[in-house]
Amino acid sequence: MAECIFCKIIKGDIPSRKVYEDDAVLAFDDISPMAPAHVVIIPKKHIATLMDVDAKADITGKLIAAAQQVAEIKQVAESGFRLAINCNADGGQVVFHLHMHLLGGRKLEDQLG
Ligand code: 5GP
Ligand code: ZN
Repeated sequence: MAECIFCKIIKGDIPSRKVYEDDAVLAFDDISPMAPAHVVIIPKKHIATLMDVDAKADITGKLIAAAQQVAEIKQVAESGFRLAINCNADGGQVVFHLHMHLLGGRKLEDQLG
């Protein structure tokens, strides 16, 4: 997946501000943040969309565990935050490498969209 932006970030070909990393997951600051804390959390293995995830696979739990770590690092675990996964066109997915958005650091709108 040489053309995938997030695969290039994993390889280090595109710079990013790393927030958290483990064997399976990378998290970095979003380039156009929508909140004081806006982190993109991705599997290191290329998976295009949420629909391509094996929900029973280890990566599902690893992504959630990484989100917990990111919430602590960004100091929003207590104040609160939102996790969002956009899937395909109507979901607003622009980058087709599975990712979670972690948003926090301000009161988020009640509406999801
Ligand atoms: P999507 O709409 O696909 O759920 O979100 C993609 C997110 O990736 C957007 O919030 C966008 O700002 C972010 N993004 C796109 N390209 C880059 C990049 O090169 N670096 C970083 N750090 N974030 C990016
Ligand atoms: Zn990719």
